[in-house]
Amino acid sequence: MSQLERLSIWDDPAVHKALSWYLEVAENRRPAKFRIAATIPCKLDPTRCPEAELWRELDHLTPIFVAQWEAIRAGAPLQCVAEGPSLLELCRELAYRMLAHCNFCPWNCRVDRLRGTKIGACRLASGARVSSHFHHTGEESFYRGTQGSGTIFFTSCNMRCSFCQNGDISTDKDNGEEVDPRTLAAMAWLLRREGCHNINWVGGEVVIHLHAIVDAIAHLGRGFTPTRSELAQAHTTKADRFDWFEEVPVSALYDGEFNAPILWNSNFFMTLEAIRILRILTDVWLPDLKFGPGRCAMSLAKTPWYWETLTRNIALLEEWGEDFTIRHLVMPNHVECCTFPVLEWICDHVPATPVNVMAQFHPDNFCDPKSAKYREKYAEIARRPSHSELADSWRHAHELGLNFETTTFERGNPFGVRELFM
Ligand code: SF4
Repeated sequence: MSQLERLSIWDDPAVHKALSWYLEVAENRRPAKFRIAATIPCKLDPTRCPEAELWRELDHLTPIFVAQWEAIRAGAPLQCVAEGPSLLELCRELAYRMLAHCNFCPWNCRVDRLRGTKIGACRLASGARVSSHFHHTGEESFYRGTQGSGTIFFTSCNMRCSFCQNGDISTDKDNGEEVDPRTLAAMAWLLRREGCHNINWVGGEVVIHLHAIVDAIAHLGRGFTPTRSELAQAHTTKADRFDWFEEVPVSALYDGEFNAPILWNSNFFMTLEAIRILRILTDVWLPDLKFGPGRCAMSLAKTPWYWETLTRNIALLEEWGEDFTIRHLVMPNHVECCTFPVLEWICDHVPATPVNVMAQFHPDNFCDPKSAKYREKYAEIARRPSHSELADSWRHAHELGLNFETTTFERGNPFGVRELFM
């Protein structure tokens, strides 16, 4: 049994059940989904077909992929990789086709980011930029484990949260270094060989970099080994490069080839097309469900279509039988309009999901009165949530019977929590 599997978090049967596929891949007892996708042949040459035909092929191959995934879950061996193009290459080609009329997210800007003469709401052309990557020890226990979550932080975002706690990354599109897909793959390859339990794609927002990430994963699924210069390039954004991590190649292998669970850590403001591609590649999902169904997503984050997009996407995960956990950050003065409806929706639609009802909101970015960026219109959230707001949130989650206590309180009882909400 590995150190990850020994953690007490797995003693909660609800957590274990919700994340069973992820754990199997993290422990290299099962191949990651991208390894399965590489075994599903694509009859078309993806580079030569019209986009509509590629989407039809994805619709045709997805049930075949799911059947194969279920068989492997039940113990079947992994098939040989396809000799010609596979579902993996189909996903990569589709992501690049989308980039040429960008519809990765509901802004649906339709700009040609390959040409880069016009930019959309995320302010990006085709280059992907990484701010930093490292062994992240701040994620939930099942993700950080003992060796950290192999986290790659991308720049820029498709939302405008006034309180963004990663504002240095999300509001500065030029943050970090531009990286090509092979360098991205090199980052993931090294983090996993250094013992990280997963590859955690995060931002800013990640879906706006969909093409580069899918391309990197396609490399990882096709016998990728980085060159020295790619590793050197990857090191430029490695935030923990002065720490020593022993490389243990066997910790990154299933059946002799690279293996790692893919963790999609996202604001989930993405289109159906994007999530259909990601379904083939993602082993575990981490949506951040922030706002309720009212106008708060508009007033605090300038984001329309928020509630309908997020709830549709999360409901799809449930329908597809995916492994996922949800984060919700309690905001001051937004318990009744945001926290309560979010918790109630979870109860009604995805009741078994582990939820992290987070207390760590602090005034940042445009709602921080100490910042030059501060805007008076955000005064209502210019403080930490009070103890009574947190207690009300946790009490409501408790009364709804949500699976939140293990995940929310795994680091202890910092606010005398039980006394507050029981
Ligand atoms: S990712 Fe979203 S915001 Fe960026 S160009 Fe595409 S549709 Fe627009």
